[in-house]
Amino acid sequence: MTHEHARDPWRLLLVEDDRELAGLLTEVLRDEGYTVDVAPDGQRGLHLGLTRSYDVLVIDRGLPVLDGLDLMRRLRSRPVRSPVLLLTGMGSVSDRVDGLDAGADDYLAKPFDLDELGARLRALCRRSRDVTDVLRIGSGQLHVGRREVTLPDGERIVLAAREFALLHALASRPDAVYSRAELRRIVFEEAHAASLVDTYVYYLRRKLGRRAVLTVRGLGYRLGAL
Ligand code: CA
Repeated sequence: MTHEHARDPWRLLLVEDDRELAGLLTEVLRDEGYTVDVAPDGQRGLHLGLTRSYDVLVIDRGLPVLDGLDLMRRLRSRPVRSPVLLLTGMGSVSDRVDGLDAGADDYLAKPFDLDELGARLRALCRRSRDVTDVLRIGSGQLHVGRREVTLPDGERIVLAAREFALLHALASRPDAVYSRAELRRIVFEEAHAASLVDTYVYYLRRKLGRRAVLTVRGLGYRLGAL
C-alpha cells in the first residue's frame, strides 16, 4: 500500500472576493507549500469544489452570487467531505454556530493572524489525510474514504461501489497480478460469474481510460496507470 508522501503539496481552494486579501493569502500559502486555486465568488467556488479534489477549503462567509454558508451546504450535500475553514467578518457565537451547522470544520474571524491561519490549516490537512487514505495509480490517485479518483489534471471521478472495490484491490497491491476468480471473490459474492469482473474492468476503463487496468494474458488483471 503506497500512502501519499509527506512532500506532496496540500491542495487548497480559497474562495474569497476581497482581491487584496485573496492575493496576500495566496502568496503566503504558496510560500508554505500549498497548491492554491482561488475563486472570487461562490459560484466559481462551487464549480471548483465539485470538479477538483482538495485537502482543505478556505471559504469567506460573505461572497457575491452564492454566499459562503450556501456554498458549504451545497458542497456538503454532493458530498464533498474535505475540511472547510470558514472566514468571517463577524465574530459572534451565533455566526460561529451557523458556520459549523453548515458544515465548516473550523472558523476564523477577520482580522486574523496569518500564523494562526497557518496552524489551523495544517491541523485540518493532517486530519484530512488521516481519514483519506490515498493510493497512487500512476500520476493519479484513488481516495479510499471518498471512493473517488483524481486524474493527473485534477479532475475528480466518483466510482460506483463495485468499481471502487475492484480498483481498490488492484491499487492496494500495484505489482500483483490478480486472476479473474480472485477478483470475483474480492468484489462480488461467490455466486456471480467471473465474467462480471470483465464487465467492471470495462466500466473502469470507460471512466478512467484504457490504461487504468491492464490485462495480463492468460492470468488476469493488474493495476495500470492514469
Ligand atoms: Ca467577503
